[in-house]
Amino acid sequence: MALIAVDCGGTNLAFGRYRPDGVGEPAGRRPAPPQADAIPAAIVEAITPLLDDAVEAVGIGVAGLVDHERGTLVWSPHASGERVALGAEVAAAVGRPVVVDNDANLAALAEALVGAGIGHRMVLFVGLGTGIGGGLVVEGHIERGRGFLGEVGHMVVDPSGPQCACGHHGCWEALVSGTTLGRAAAELVRRDPQGGVARAAGGAAPRGEHLAAAAAAGDPAALAELAAAGARLGRGLANLVAVLDPDVIVVGGAAAGAGEALLAPARALLAETVEGGRSRPATPVVAARWGTGAGLVGAALAAGGKG
Ligand SMILES: [Zn+2]
Repeated sequence: MALIAVDCGGTNLAFGRYRPDGVGEPAGRRPAPPQADAIPAAIVEAITPLLDDAVEAVGIGVAGLVDHERGTLVWSPHASGERVALGAEVAAAVGRPVVVDNDANLAALAEALVGAGIGHRMVLFVGLGTGIGGGLVVEGHIERGRGFLGEVGHMVVDPSGPQCACGHHGCWEALVSGTTLGRAAAELVRRDPQGGVARAAGGAAPRGEHLAAAAAAGDPAALAELAAAGARLGRGLANLVAVLDPDVIVVGGAAAGAGEALLAPARALLAETVEGGRSRPATPVVAARWGTGAGLVGAALAAGGKG
């Protein structure tokens, strides 16, 4: 039995062929369509070459508000258009059952069942990519609220902060995300064209991973930038711990590649600002096992009936 997994985030559409236990490999990646109603056709085009008799189902994670029951992309801050019948359209085209969920929900499922959250009852996943995705898995099941639980990136942390992709100001993801780290990398290169981040980029367009590479090499400016970003991350985590008190927080997405340079300051600010921080046990904040591949692994698990 094989499953097709699709992860359509704010920037990239990744896809691959997996086993029901989540083992598999990404087969390819392309830009995510900027229009929501173009997503079903883009997915069908991407996955059709992977289909054969062994493929029994398709799992799709997509950024935005997803109606899991109906398989509908209700609204996304990253793609124009709304109420796209993603599951029905892809199922009609490929002739297999299709499961659709929020991309961060599926990444959370992967980390909870076969990743860094194994052994914990309540796993909160926070993914720093184009924005910040969130997912909550309790005893192996995705918590949904009325449908849209876990849109943690749009907690307003600073109402006078920068505008978010959702249209509001000062959302958590407008203050820290893979996107903001990329912007910070570009700014550091602009300010110091011979500096550590510029050397890490080696002439390529500066991205968050160059910031992480420069920090790993000990570059003070990159370390300071990641420490500040980590503090902004920790501020939001403290809010989430106050509300949810999860057993573990798994931080994933592209920006989690920065590792301890980002996570250590986040842990410190979380401990400092959470209610009763000196008296309560510290909430473990750990790096994701699956990195940017968590969404695909989770999509495969969901297509195989988990979650
Ligand atoms: Zn927002």
